[in-house]
Amino acid sequence: MKVQTKVITLISLVAIIFFLALYLIQLAEKQKTEGILTARKLEKSESFKKAIQSFESNLEVFAKDYTQWDEMVDFVETKDSVWADENIDYSINTYHTNAVWIFKPDLTLLYSVNNLLSSSINYFPLKKDKIERMFKNGYFCHFFILINEELFEIRGAPIQPSSDLQRLTKPAGFFFTGRLWSKDFISEIALQTDSKVLLRSIKDGDEKNNSVMNKDYTIVVSETLLGWNGEPIMKVISESDFPILKTSTEVFNKQIIALLIFSVLVLIIVSVFLIINVNNPLKVISKGLEEQNPALLTSLAKDKAEFGKLSQLIIEFFSQKEQLIDEIHNRKFMESSLSQSEEKYRKIFENVQDIFYQTDLNGIITSISPSIERYSEYTPEEVIGRKITDFYLDPRVREKLLIEVNKKGEVVDFEIILVTKSGKLISCSVNTHFLFDDSKNIIGLEGSLRDITERKSHEEKILKLSWAIEQSPISVVITDTKGKIEYINPRFTETSGYTYDEVIGQSPNLLKSGLTQSEVYKDLWETISKGKEWSGELQNKKKNGEVFWELVLVSPIKNSENVITNYLGIKEDITEKKIIIEELKTAKEKAEEMSNVKSSFLANMSHELRTPMMGILGNAEIISISTEDMEIKDMASAIYTSGQRLINTLNLILDLSRIEANKESLDIESLDVVSIIKDVVDHYSSAAWQRNLSLDFITKLDKIYSNLDERLFREVLNNLINNAIKFTNNGGITVSLSTDADKMIIKVIDTGIGIPSESLGIIFEEFRQVSEGYGRNFEGTGLGLTITKKFVEKLGGKISVESKTDIGSEFTVVFPITKDDNNG
Ligand code: ADP
Repeated sequence: MKVQTKVITLISLVAIIFFLALYLIQLAEKQKTEGILTARKLEKSESFKKAIQSFESNLEVFAKDYTQWDEMVDFVETKDSVWADENIDYSINTYHTNAVWIFKPDLTLLYSVNNLLSSSINYFPLKKDKIERMFKNGYFCHFFILINEELFEIRGAPIQPSSDLQRLTKPAGFFFTGRLWSKDFISEIALQTDSKVLLRSIKDGDEKNNSVMNKDYTIVVSETLLGWNGEPIMKVISESDFPILKTSTEVFNKQIIALLIFSVLVLIIVSVFLIINVNNPLKVISKGLEEQNPALLTSLAKDKAEFGKLSQLIIEFFSQKEQLIDEIHNRKFMESSLSQSEEKYRKIFENVQDIFYQTDLNGIITSISPSIERYSEYTPEEVIGRKITDFYLDPRVREKLLIEVNKKGEVVDFEIILVTKSGKLISCSVNTHFLFDDSKNIIGLEGSLRDITERKSHEEKILKLSWAIEQSPISVVITDTKGKIEYINPRFTETSGYTYDEVIGQSPNLLKSGLTQSEVYKDLWETISKGKEWSGELQNKKKNGEVFWELVLVSPIKNSENVITNYLGIKEDITEKKIIIEELKTAKEKAEEMSNVKSSFLANMSHELRTPMMGILGNAEIISISTEDMEIKDMASAIYTSGQRLINTLNLILDLSRIEANKESLDIESLDVVSIIKDVVDHYSSAAWQRNLSLDFITKLDKIYSNLDERLFREVLNNLINNAIKFTNNGGITVSLSTDADKMIIKVIDTGIGIPSESLGIIFEEFRQVSEGYGRNFEGTGLGLTITKKFVEKLGGKISVESKTDIGSEFTVVFPITKDDNNG
């Protein structure tokens, strides 16, 4: 809540409390006044009643005196006018009444007299029921009656002898006396009661009882006047003012009003004062603070009062704040520029290549730049105070350096090798000179070290490469992008006959023989200009005019921006190679021709040999059967066995030559491989048994089909199983058949002598055996596996071997499975 709001609320609260207090005071005053008024009213009512009663008592006394009087009893009978005149007429005035009426017992008027000189009031009618009701209570009656519209107060009593105190006798008549409530009489009452008295007839709804009212500090007291039958007929009202009270109330009210006006004025003045002296300055101050605008407070600050001082303080605060902000801003700016320059120098310092150092005359390092850490892994703190030679690979080098400095006063690019903290060697270039004090005395050395390890390794690399290029048996030529030669290696000169000076600045075109087609050169240039490599053969001419062939590889050299700066040509003289290839080609063609001749010769020869061999075999068999001579028998069977072996060899040679001459015709059909393998294995079981070897066929398959030539397939199995039995001395042979996807795999595994790994590569070659020459241990031609391999490949399969000496061999043959219905 704002202070202004608080002030307004406070003033309003004070006003409310004040008005409430005023209201309460006024209420109390009103109650007090009303209390006084009420008391006064009761008093007034009492005195008014008494006054009326005092007037009425005359009538009562008059009636009392005359109605129990024997003379009166007599008068009713005699109607003595003299007596009446002397007693009654005269008593009217004595008792301050106005009239007397005497009735006979039969209620007829006997006598009437009044002092009002009005005959109209001489009579008022009486009836029996009236009398009965009037004297209900015995002796007297008191009532008001209107006679000729004038109000009379009447007192009456029955006339009885004075001896009848109890008024038990029959009344001799009735006596009434009345007083007219004339204006004078009312004035007399008014005088007596010190009030204004007036009569008012009873209207319907009027208060029938006597009542007391007050209005405007006037006390109104009334008495109801009852008729003969007890019914009210008129009211007499007394009104009396209470001026003191009225005046005091009025004075009080005036005081209250004055107080009210005064308070309102005070409130207004206080409010205005607060608004001017508190609220407005506060408003200005708060606006100034909210808008942060001290200019708004300038006029207020001139005031010497508290708010003026406050404004002054706020203005000072703002100006200090501004100064502070400026200061902060400046400081920040300075800090940022400082940190920027610091960063700049730090970067420079960190990135500076060189190490700056100072030593004293004893070689103790006195100061060194932080870059030392990057190269040597030592921090400056670890280095300062130590001898510089502690870090030399060879401390003696320092002596050489000092000699140099002594000689020339300085040393430039002196190479030393330093040892880093982790023991690495770094090559450094030292620039150093003497350090002087103010008196020009030498106090030490000052210099810079530059790590040139990389440079040295680059230099060495370049040296190696250039050495390699210089020594290369291949010609190297480097041109610029326009094709002008910048470098050639010595081999170029050797090959082409042109010296270095003869070709530098020239184009490689000077080697052109005119024998290479121009498209080749076009292709070369197009390719290398795109940044790609080109290779090809060019027929060039040497300086001596000799034409030679070169295998050329040209590649562009690009810089770090990927721009071609040079072209590198690597050329090999392939003239001799080309001649050899040509010769080889001719030799190959000749060999092929010879092979064909050989094959057909062999085919013919085999045939020619087989026919006589059949004769020899047949006859040997007959001789063996027909003779009893055991010697001849043995000779014949030896002829038979040798002949059989010869036939086998011939068959093999025939098979091979047939294959090589491509005369092998195939009879491909879908075969059940399982039954064929079983058959072949069965065939070899006795041979295995003879050599005391096991021979098993293992498969999970019942049938499996493959498109094969049965003769060739059987031949493959024969050869593999035959070899396995031949080259196994212990254990046995296992033939297995399995499938893998769409292939069948046949394995012939033995526990034989095995094949040394170096011989595995030759066993499929013609006439090759593991043990060859005169030292071989087994019979054979070395053709079996050659033919087997060729047969397998002809049938669309593959053969491979794995073997270990003295453990055994495993030949694997793989054929595709026929996708034939029979397979199912
Ligand atoms: P050979 O008529 O000599 O058996 P092969 O071509 O059938 O001619 O075999 C070539 C050579 O491979 C054999 O001489 C033998 O040294 C070796 N060889 C073939 N099969 C086996 C085998 N199962 N175990 C060990 N050596 C074998």
